[in-house]
Amino acid sequence: MAKKGVASVRGFSDVLPAQTPLWQWAEARIQRVLEAYDYREIRLPVLERTELFCRSIGEVTDIVEKEMYTFEDRNGDSLTMRPEGTAGCVRAGIEHGLLHNSEPRLWYRGAMFRHERPQRGRLRQFHQIGAEAFGVAAPELDAEMIVMTARMLRELGLDEGVRLQLNSLGTPQCRAAYRAELIDYLQRHENELDEESRRRLNSNPLRIFDSKDPGVQAVMAEAPRLLDALDEESAAHFTTLRNLLEQAGVEYTVNPALVRGLDYYTRTVFEWVTDRLGAQGTVCAGGRFDGLVEQLGGRATPAIGFALGLERLVELLAEGRAEEVARCGGAAHAYLVVAGESAAAFALAEWLRDALPRLRLQMHPGSAGFKGQLKRADRSGARVALILGDAEEAAGEVTVKDLRDDQPQRRMDREALVQYLCGLIDDDGRAT
Ligand code: ATP
Ligand code: MG
Repeated sequence: MAKKGVASVRGFSDVLPAQTPLWQWAEARIQRVLEAYDYREIRLPVLERTELFCRSIGEVTDIVEKEMYTFEDRNGDSLTMRPEGTAGCVRAGIEHGLLHNSEPRLWYRGAMFRHERPQRGRLRQFHQIGAEAFGVAAPELDAEMIVMTARMLRELGLDEGVRLQLNSLGTPQCRAAYRAELIDYLQRHENELDEESRRRLNSNPLRIFDSKDPGVQAVMAEAPRLLDALDEESAAHFTTLRNLLEQAGVEYTVNPALVRGLDYYTRTVFEWVTDRLGAQGTVCAGGRFDGLVEQLGGRATPAIGFALGLERLVELLAEGRAEEVARCGGAAHAYLVVAGESAAAFALAEWLRDALPRLRLQMHPGSAGFKGQLKRADRSGARVALILGDAEEAAGEVTVKDLRDDQPQRRMDREALVQYLCGLIDDDGRAT
């Protein structure tokens, strides 16, 4: 930060140009997969009424208790910067009647806000891509959504080192019965719990499974398991889901302690987890929320969704791939060195941009010596320099100098030049 500059807000970070190509690349691949499963993008506001999150996420959750950016606007309304996307997506679905007589599949992306302690993998403004599918209660939809997230990770080259964890939270009814059993067990072990867990004992005992305290974890390892207390239908749902995943060749482990941080989940919950990101290893998380639409005032509609944390994903992508990241650092394909008339160079540059819409071309601005321009071309990271002098101009040709490989300069006519440049642009629009 410059001495007299204004600092950014803690936990709110910039994504710099060296990193944005990696974000764009990942986002484009994810979007392609979402489209392959017929998900449509919905763009949601960042601000919602505070009530929306209290009613959906739940009063006794980390998010609502202590992480929300809530304020009164000038009219005195209590508003909150969205901490997640599902509540807003359901709100919009109800408000615009999207959930009737159809089974919409929606996806969204954007910034989320949580007032957490900033650290690796935990920002106060972070970004998610998420999707929600409505109207289908069958486990086939759970399986399809999980298979879709598996495909995304595969497409991103992350199929190794990111593992799927699966659990079922049953229905609110069977959870209520289990809750009593769990509280009973926890009361007998109350002196082994830390302060936070003791506080949660009666308000949200399931969340104690999330505790990072080793003593508490030891108590929870012996606790009765919700998975053993599922109602018949939830158990059958879970079995079908497991079979479908096995048939699809998606590996997973059942983690009975996976409870997720929000109250609205029913039945299936899942997380894609890695140990390559330190303590914050969950890259993608989701689950079914069959009661939420009704809870927020809509007609009862089953639903399932997931959200993927882009910062963590990008960190995973960047890790150990410095070279690839540098390569997709957004460098130009070509740098046009102006050795003759600048008007002719302008015309050539625009002609090339017409001919090759995906070409990244930088033209030397203003005037400078030939050597100076070549130096700039090199520093720009461009793959090749195109040189247009009077002689080339007269012949309708351009000289091409490879800036990365030691090859002789070549002169070519415009048609050959287009062919040549075309070969430098890969599928993702990056320089090859
Ligand atoms: P955690 O247990 O890590 O706090 P969570 O259960 O609060 O996660 P979700 O609400 O499920 O997280 O959000 C989905 C994903 O969004 C997470 O798996 C993670 O990748 C990302 N995410 C959540 N909170 C943050 C944050 N503060 N900073 C960066 N990414 C985050
Ligand atoms: Mg959290």
